[in-house]
Amino acid sequence: MSKKVQVLDKTFELFIPEARIQEAIDNLAERLNKDLEGKNVIFIAILNGAFIFAADLYRRITVPSLITFVKLASYQGTSTTGKVKRLIGINEDIENMTVVVLEDIVDTGVTMEYILKQLRGYEPKEIYIATMFFKKDAFVKDFPIHYVGLEIPNKFIVGYGLDYDGYGRNLKDIYVLSQ
Ligand code: 5GP
Ligand code: MG
Repeated sequence: MSKKVQVLDKTFELFIPEARIQEAIDNLAERLNKDLEGKNVIFIAILNGAFIFAADLYRRITVPSLITFVKLASYQGTSTTGKVKRLIGINEDIENMTVVVLEDIVDTGVTMEYILKQLRGYEPKEIYIATMFFKKDAFVKDFPIHYVGLEIPNKFIVGYGLDYDGYGRNLKDIYVLSQ
């Protein structure tokens, strides 16, 4: 029987052990260190979910670079279009820089599309996306996800920064909702 955890009212079971996550990050860092050499780099991590991934990945980055943390703030739009998400917290001048967006998970890609649109407004030289987890089968957009830690099936996961209603981010492994 696999290891189970309770988060609020739901039971989750072990899905991806810590060691596999760390191994995937080793590989990501190796690729990034190669690809980013000689570039003027800023990592932009998306709070809250990406804080653990960003901390683990960034300590393996050996090229000179900056890192900053931003947040998507939901607010009610004035029109019937409903919710709009605004990127807050960019105080650095990222014009002409190479941006690497750090996300915990890309699912449909809707969130990442918001982020990309708004980042382009700051006129960086180029934007790469690095995500720890990628639900390939749920992705409905057509922009490239350049760096993927692990591809996962279309299931709800918690742990390693990812939450269920705010809880579970501190789990070292990834857990999936029990059937
Ligand atoms: P997207 O806009 O790509 O459909 O969804 C992205 C956001 O949904 C992520 O930033 C994350 O907050 C949330 N999300 C998507 N899939 C999962 C999941 O399996 N577990 C958790 N905890 N959050 C998820
Ligand atoms: Mg997120």
